[in-house]
Amino acid sequence: MQAILLLSIVILIYFVLRYLINVIIDARARLKEESGEGDEPESQAMVRCAHCGIHLPQSEAYYDGQHTYCSEGHMQKGPKDLEFTSKNANPTVPPPPH
Ligand SMILES: [Zn+2]
Repeated sequence: MQAILLLSIVILIYFVLRYLINVIIDARARLKEESGEGDEPESQAMVRCAHCGIHLPQSEAYYDGQHTYCSEGHMQKGPKDLEFTSKNANPTVPPPPH
């Protein structure tokens, strides 16, 4: 009689554990689903305006075949070497006459 009681307790524990594991798996799946909704950001390539240096999405940029620009006006003005003027300005080279 004791063996049957022990067996039924073991079976009961087994079912309770199985139920708990299912609940945990469900909860985790739901959490993943909920957080996964905004998981794929619209990653868009950013390009830099060759004239003023601002960054903008590639889809909004103007492209003249060599450089990207933020606006048609800057495309017409052409590229301005921002890296050169800000960082690597060479003092031995005189500025171009205006
Ligand atoms: Zn610009």
